[in-house]
Amino acid sequence: MAADRRSRLLVILERDGSACVWCRRDIDTDLVAATTEHLVPKIKGGPSWLENEVAACRRCNGDRGHRTPAEWADECSRRGWQPAIDVLIAVLESFQERVQREGGARRARPYVDSQLRRLARMRD
Ligand SMILES: [Zn+2]
Repeated sequence: MAADRRSRLLVILERDGSACVWCRRDIDTDLVAATTEHLVPKIKGGPSWLENEVAACRRCNGDRGHRTPAEWADECSRRGWQPAIDVLIAVLESFQERVQREGGARRARPYVDSQLRRLARMRD
């Protein structure tokens, strides 16, 4: 993993805890390959901000494919995992706060808003 990606991953693990956000496996080990992934995909206008990135194991990162965070979290629950809905919500709320502060990421905003509504219902 390139130094920049590695340092971003470490920042995210410090922020969110050292588990895959989807399946909650410990990823701060050499046994499980950790990666960072965008909540709003680049193709949907998602920026490469820490406020748009979470840590995931490589399996979940690959299995998610093009699904939205809420769709994939639903599938994770069906698989018997307990996705970290609170972390997803906190990261997306920090995304909204950054947008309010600095602007930008205009295309990604509706995606973030709708995901936050769906994730909030999943948490309740
Ligand atoms: Zn995982």
